[in-house]
Amino acid sequence: MSFNILIVEDEPKLAGLIKDYVLQAGMIPHCIDNGLDVVPWVKQMAPDLILLDLMLPGKDGLAICQEIRRTSNVPIIMVTARVEEIDRLLGLELGADDYICKPFSPREVIARVKAVLRRNSPEQSSAARGLLLDHETYKATLNGKVLDLTALEFNLLAMLAEKPGRIFSRGQVMDGIYSDQRVVSDRTIDSHIKKLRKRISLVLPDQEIVHSVYGVGYKFEILDDQ
Ligand code: CA
Repeated sequence: MSFNILIVEDEPKLAGLIKDYVLQAGMIPHCIDNGLDVVPWVKQMAPDLILLDLMLPGKDGLAICQEIRRTSNVPIIMVTARVEEIDRLLGLELGADDYICKPFSPREVIARVKAVLRRNSPEQSSAARGLLLDHETYKATLNGKVLDLTALEFNLLAMLAEKPGRIFSRGQVMDGIYSDQRVVSDRTIDSHIKKLRKRISLVLPDQEIVHSVYGVGYKFEILDDQ
């Protein structure tokens, strides 16, 4: 089955370039260059993935992403022109699946598209099933082995694992693991992640499942090729 990829991009050259690469990768590209046309098209055509530029004529990527998320879980990769923008976007909790910053190589875009499609496939959820979380007893098992976690580490893992592949900023991690309005430093979050990783490595020494996304935050992902 070929995936239908919607490319929302108002720079014709760039759109054409991505389109060619999508075709080469054996997927079917569709291009829209105006923000206003996106939501109705998505409703009618139900694409398998959307590459969504942030700055668009008519309606911006932010508004489009929010509108789509009201009715659909279609994977969305947001494309921005500035790397600083990504942190702000994460804070808005748009529900995008990944973020790419311009300029990018089309090769990188295709790799990201494939990764997002893969983790949204049923096979990835079954891979993630190796992790069992009992929220009543705070007991976590990974591939049948018990993870020795504190309640805080359990909550941290549960939060990340609930949305495999989704990137959480440190601020979001903070909100997720502390129920009070406590403010802790980024370093505290990093240190909890470090401890969590250490505990996981005792059970799963050869594989990383809690990943750092440089300058942005953290994500849970079980990669096929590890
Ligand atoms: Ca643009």
